[in-house]
Amino acid sequence: MTNLELARRFYEIASLLEVRGESVFRIRAYQRAAQTLEALGEDVAAVAARGGLRRLPGVGRDLAARIEEYLATGRLAQLETLRAGLPATFLGLLEIRGLGPRTARALWEQLGIDSVEALEEACRSGRILGVAGIREKSRTNIVQAIERWRAGQARTPLARALAVARHLVETLRARGDVDRIEIAGSLRRMRETVKDVDLLVTSRAPARVLETFVTLPSVAAVTARGPTRVSVRHQAGLAVDLRVVEPEAFGAALQYFTGSREHNVRTREIASRRGRRLSEYGVFDERTGQRVAGLTEEDVYAAIGLPWIPPELRENQGEIEAAREGALPSLVTVEDLRGDLHAHTDWSDGRLTLERMVAAAEARGYEYVIVSDHSASLAIAHGLDVERLRAQAREIRALQARTRIRILAGTECDILEDGRLDFPDEVLAGLDVVLAAVHSRFKQSRADMTARIVRALANPWVNVLVHPTGRRLGTREPYDVDLEAVLAAAREHGKAVEINGSPERLDLADVHARRAAALGVPVAISSDTHALAEFEHVALGVAVARRAWLTPAHVLNTRPLDGLRAWSRPAGRAATG
Ligand SMILES: [Zn+2]
Ligand SMILES: [Zn+2]
Repeated sequence: MTNLELARRFYEIASLLEVRGESVFRIRAYQRAAQTLEALGEDVAAVAARGGLRRLPGVGRDLAARIEEYLATGRLAQLETLRAGLPATFLGLLEIRGLGPRTARALWEQLGIDSVEALEEACRSGRILGVAGIREKSRTNIVQAIERWRAGQARTPLARALAVARHLVETLRARGDVDRIEIAGSLRRMRETVKDVDLLVTSRAPARVLETFVTLPSVAAVTARGPTRVSVRHQAGLAVDLRVVEPEAFGAALQYFTGSREHNVRTREIASRRGRRLSEYGVFDERTGQRVAGLTEEDVYAAIGLPWIPPELRENQGEIEAAREGALPSLVTVEDLRGDLHAHTDWSDGRLTLERMVAAAEARGYEYVIVSDHSASLAIAHGLDVERLRAQAREIRALQARTRIRILAGTECDILEDGRLDFPDEVLAGLDVVLAAVHSRFKQSRADMTARIVRALANPWVNVLVHPTGRRLGTREPYDVDLEAVLAAAREHGKAVEINGSPERLDLADVHARRAAALGVPVAISSDTHALAEFEHVALGVAVARRAWLTPAHVLNTRPLDGLRAWSRPAGRAATG
């Protein structure tokens, strides 16, 4: 059990470093190492004995030394130092969404708040006001967050829930005893936020699987426990349900627990009209009571006369009808994308140099990538003025000479308050692709915001309206805009709109992307990458696109380079070569 004990301690160090405001890189390093240990099949002592610690993912020289210290002494001096002066219940405060480690620490230091109960009391009495900048509004937010925490109801953004679920799947697989394991629920349907994580497994040793699960270091508390099911609160702040089902019913259980409820109401009706009963245990003949399907989802759907339906579509939004008519869409996949149309470099607020950004895109196998740094009026992001944009264009040309992937010169150009663009037309005309975005004055009236964006879309050199509603999941509402008018303008002027795959944006949302496609407006699926790992965010954008019923034909960046360029700079309108 050394692996788990050590993982638990590393998680705790990460949390304590967070409380002390340490660098995010150190915090992540401990979290990564903890995850590695949790999923490690071999005893870490054995790994250490053969000198293999530093080959473990996420374990460098420092962390290898910590592991050796623990193996030799059973202690971690660093953890003891970090714990000093903080009560054991304190870390529970970090599970309250929106409180933040620094505020939690200030509350402890100034008011002695050391637990969720104490926090609640301080909110009720008003003692909390004035501490760490907390005002009436934040007090209300904290009270609501505590209520949601109690009810286990806080919704978690897709990316965060996926990371938790995938880690648990990997861990349970590595620890043995599971035969099949799948993520079900709204997470499998890739909803933009989820209430909890549902995992289904088959196993010849169900009791052992459940026991392994509840003792994982990343599990904060067990909230319910039965012979084939446990519910826990994960330390990332969301509920996780694990169910062990019989292998013959795995497909039926997967179908049932994937939902949605509305979709399942329809499938049960269809089954019953065929003299069959559909449940989490299988499809049964109503007359004989015999199970006719259950092993796989394909079998289950086939037994009620339907083709298999992709989980992202299971919302009772027309998928049943489409399935019956043999008209289910062939949904876009990550592999269909030929390039990324939204990427930043360290010329503005990205972390990669131009060269490294382009190399990373090339390593993904893309045919093209855009360079779309911010424009000057976004000073906070070191936006480029005309002169720096020209200097960047020269660097792009030089780099292109020694690069296979096609580098498209672009910009993420600010749409100014009145709908003008931040660069003059002759500058925009010299670029391959122009993205336009609202980054300021979010509080304009609906009429003004709509007119502002519609005017920008009428500019002949603008190609893609990016993150069209400006929302940030859980922290910023979309600005007030008549999206229908915006999409109509995009169609009229031959412009595209974006699904921004950045985890906190996912903008456009699925319903709006579906509407865009229905109107014939092309949709770009972009990462909006600011760092190496963020290229991966296109996968989240693709998830939204699939929920929006998009096929490759709807998506702008599935087009080959020639097709893309013919669209963005049609012959006769090209300004430069
Ligand atoms: Zn932006
Ligand atoms: Zn951007």
